[in-house]
Amino acid sequence: MSEQITDMEKIVSLAKRRGFVFPSSEIYGGLAAVYDYGPLGVELENNIKEVWWKAMVHDREDVVGLDSAIFMLPKVWEASGHVGGFSDPLTECKQCHTRHRVDHLLEAIEVFADEKMSQEEVQSLFDANKDKLACPKCGANDFTPVRKFNLLVSSNLGNFTGDWTKEPVYLRGETCQGIYVNFKNVLDSTHAKVPFGIAQIGKAFRNEITARQFIFRTREFEQMEMQYFVHPDDAMKYYEQWKENRMQFYIDLGIKSENLQWHKHENLVFYAKEAYDIEYKYPFGWKELEGVHARGDYDLTQHTTHSGQKMEYMDQAKGEKYTPHVVETSAGVARTLLAVLCDAYCEEEVKDETRVVLKLHPKLAPYKIAVLPLSKKDELIAPAREVVALLKKKYHVDFDETQSIGKRYRRQDEIGTPYCVTVDFDTLQDKAVTVRDRDTMKQERIKIDELVSFFAKKLN
Ligand SMILES: [Zn+2]
Repeated sequence: MSEQITDMEKIVSLAKRRGFVFPSSEIYGGLAAVYDYGPLGVELENNIKEVWWKAMVHDREDVVGLDSAIFMLPKVWEASGHVGGFSDPLTECKQCHTRHRVDHLLEAIEVFADEKMSQEEVQSLFDANKDKLACPKCGANDFTPVRKFNLLVSSNLGNFTGDWTKEPVYLRGETCQGIYVNFKNVLDSTHAKVPFGIAQIGKAFRNEITARQFIFRTREFEQMEMQYFVHPDDAMKYYEQWKENRMQFYIDLGIKSENLQWHKHENLVFYAKEAYDIEYKYPFGWKELEGVHARGDYDLTQHTTHSGQKMEYMDQAKGEKYTPHVVETSAGVARTLLAVLCDAYCEEEVKDETRVVLKLHPKLAPYKIAVLPLSKKDELIAPAREVVALLKKKYHVDFDETQSIGKRYRRQDEIGTPYCVTVDFDTLQDKAVTVRDRDTMKQERIKIDELVSFFAKKLN
């Protein structure tokens, strides 16, 4: 009776209608590939980040947190290879002037460009398949030559010459570089011993050529990354553990296991030892939700070479000094949010009408409980307010007195509130309320005195 929906338009429409996601600068026509999160979107985002931080940092003894700055010295991005190599192959349709990523055009006809390929190699692959390609916008087959386009977003920070193209300070293209450059600081300021990890949640920026699929690929986005530093001999052992751990994370969030799969990278960047992505079955296909990568000692070695500072670890017990290898887990907040919305969205036929319900895990739901007085009369508003005050100490509670009770239930279903508490005229006599379960729609009468312990059992 309840079916998962694979229609992206419905997700986008609900996200807008109920205040999860808005296009950026919308009143001026919108800024492409940038989005704002509304009153419910920010709650869902915060809940996702909180669950991740708890699982990755607070629940463990071997991972610590970090909040590094968005601006970093340009040298960091030279060392990381981003200034030279962080680029996508670009072509422009000569008819409608839409820019396309060459690898995406090729992907659509099942031809896969390797991310290591030079501009010339991509060009020859593009030429070899040109006959089969058409502009996704206008259908023409008339493209400009391939050009590599660097994804780093630059700023004029600290530059007062007016010419920002000279030695620009970039906005970080990924959060993990802030972790690598602080490796020694963390080691020296804590009692961390290898193996240990550093976790960070923060914004990153990429000049994406084509913005596609709503909040899936955006120019400003938030990452949840963890770099785990290990002895080179143990790298693959910990890599396997993290793979298992990270897949379980999504299952624990209530995402259906049939909508999750592993995807192995066939064309590894040269330094990577092994790389798998956790993919989610989005309405537009299987796409990367999180990357779990064995990066070897590439990053620490690069920063050692470029900075002259040794990024080594001294194992005092063994008297051994070495450059640790890194296992990285890299997830996106928006991609997780989109997966969670798609997975939770259901339409059900109830009494000849369609009920839209977001079956969000209670941990993620923006509101845990909605308190609904049956009427706007003062005699019900007052006790309803008391119930709100009682539950608010522990949960994020919505109070809604507008429209009919049926409409209010539907609204709470649509935003994924697990429980509705209705205060009615009987409440004045029996000091009890009706609690309605979002998923089963079953209602039960609970004494107000027992509400706190009732929800402690249901929501914790
Ligand atoms: Zn075109």
